Amino acid sequence: MTVLLGAVADDFTGATDLASMLARGGMRTVLRLGAPDADEPAPGAEAVVVALKSRTAPVEEAVAQSVASWRWAAQAGAEQCYFKYCSTFDSTPHGNIGPVAEALMAATGAVQTIYCPAFPENGRTIYQGKLFVFDQLLSESGMRNHPLTPMTDADLRRVLGTQLSDGAEVGLVPWATVVRGAGAIREALAALAASGAAHVIVDALTDADLAALGQAVADMPLVTAASGLGLGLAASFGAAGRLAGGQPDALPQIGGETLLLSGSCSTATNDQVARWRNDGAALMQLDPLALADGQETADSVMDWLRGQAGPALIAATQPPDAVEAAQRALGRNRAAALVEDTLATIAVMARGAGTRRFVVAGGETSGAVAKALGAERLAVGPSIAPGVPWCATLGPNPVALALKSGNFGGETFFADALESAP
Ligand code: ADP
Repeated sequence: MTVLLGAVADDFTGATDLASMLARGGMRTVLRLGAPDADEPAPGAEAVVVALKSRTAPVEEAVAQSVASWRWAAQAGAEQCYFKYCSTFDSTPHGNIGPVAEALMAATGAVQTIYCPAFPENGRTIYQGKLFVFDQLLSESGMRNHPLTPMTDADLRRVLGTQLSDGAEVGLVPWATVVRGAGAIREALAALAASGAAHVIVDALTDADLAALGQAVADMPLVTAASGLGLGLAASFGAAGRLAGGQPDALPQIGGETLLLSGSCSTATNDQVARWRNDGAALMQLDPLALADGQETADSVMDWLRGQAGPALIAATQPPDAVEAAQRALGRNRAAALVEDTLATIAVMARGAGTRRFVVAGGETSGAVAKALGAERLAVGPSIAPGVPWCATLGPNPVALALKSGNFGGETFFADALESAP
């Protein structure tokens, strides 16, 4: 089996999200957590998704890791590169979406690429280049308060423009064109290329729009998008007769206790944690200030955990005012590092005590936990909610991981995850 598609995701939950889309679209997909060594053998798969933790890394580091990951996939045969970022276009005025896309264009030889963070199933749509989260502009959604990448502008052309090199032109394929299908999109992209627009935002409101876009960009060396485009691209490979087909492999049966960890402070996760608490389930609330002065430690949390009879949730999840207070006292990065390190240490200790199933809420948080657990290659299983599949490490003694992007999942997400745990 030859690798056809090489994807590079800027966080771990985004990678599992894209991998689940590609698998749903019929591609044999393997997830690689963390940048592979250049000489690491490629997995037998039609799509590989490399999960980086590069969303908030220094620009040069994000660029270097993304390009190296693509080169590894290309060496295994990948013909097309997919740069996956969040459906809320999480980034800062300095990057990393623009700089990584420019570097991947150079590495793949692409003269033009598209940007399409739409994920209609989760309410993310793009119209006239403006990104919506359900009925709100991105800048009016909970994303304006994100602890690391606050998004205060919904105009994707403007947001991307500030991240690209001086003089880079950003074009738009509007929905009126997209709805006319793949041919119309291709013509619009060619016209924009002729006028010098190497970077093109593409509107999309529905899965049908993404299917048409998937067809239109089947031959582009590089696409950049959230996970929504994955289905459309997989369908293009299928239509071209490039996929083996058949049933995807099932996850192994793992069983035992499941540990729930949350470092996401998104609106959706706050609601999910509140629902878990209101349902009377076991919850330990972490406070970065208490972690900083040593009042709370991974050891003290483990003592509490050992006293719980059923599944427990350990959460640093807080509403925006509490997050701001912690950041004012500790600095944004220190507050984040304290939470991430503590949750990762707890996961390692719990695994030592026999736990083999973990649910982690938060993109950065998932990166920290999966890395600490040493999870490298994952098979992708059934979804708990759109964009959140159960995964299992390949090889002996598998560990199951469900990595949830902060904004994903319904209010009963944690209970839903327990119900479908492998
Ligand atoms: P999401 O997927 O919702 O963006 P992430 O895990 O990517 O979640 O980002 C949330 C960040 O906020 C993490 O770096 C986490 O460590 C940090 N964080 C979590 N809880 C708190 C808190 N109470 N105060 C400050 N920062 C926090």
